[in-house]
Amino acid sequence: MERTASCHCGKLVLTCTGDPAKVSLCHCFDCQRRTGSLFSVAAFFPRERVALPVAGAMAFKRPSASGRDVSFHFCPDCGSSLWWEPERLPHLIGVAAGAFADRDFPMPEQAVWAEQRHAWLDLPLPEHLRNPVKTAPATDRPT
Ligand SMILES: [Zn+2]
Ligand SMILES: [Zn+2]
Repeated sequence: MERTASCHCGKLVLTCTGDPAKVSLCHCFDCQRRTGSLFSVAAFFPRERVALPVAGAMAFKRPSASGRDVSFHFCPDCGSSLWWEPERLPHLIGVAAGAFADRDFPMPEQAVWAEQRHAWLDLPLPEHLRNPVKTAPATDRPT
């Protein structure tokens, strides 16, 4: 199965093959500020299954709670974040799940950073107060 994700204006397009390795929802304040929404949903795909735009994106890099940087790639024309690359997990690419504009996209299997969740949100997902992976040994789990 092939899926296409694009930014708001359509300048940046990427294609993913197969199902995501993991879909995770994040309530953290950084994701709230990045998206302008109250949470973000990341679909993590193995790098070799993602065809990224060859040019045109800009990147913003910041440290994550794990202490390793994450680079967020966004469209300079419309400002949408389309994908991100966690240095800690170089084999995975996180794609903004909303950028697929697909109601049937697989639902997240977990929510992280629930301690920063807006109080009224009540989602049918197992949640973690922070991100459980930062204390786990290096595995293929996402940031
Ligand atoms: Zn755009
Ligand atoms: Zn977050």
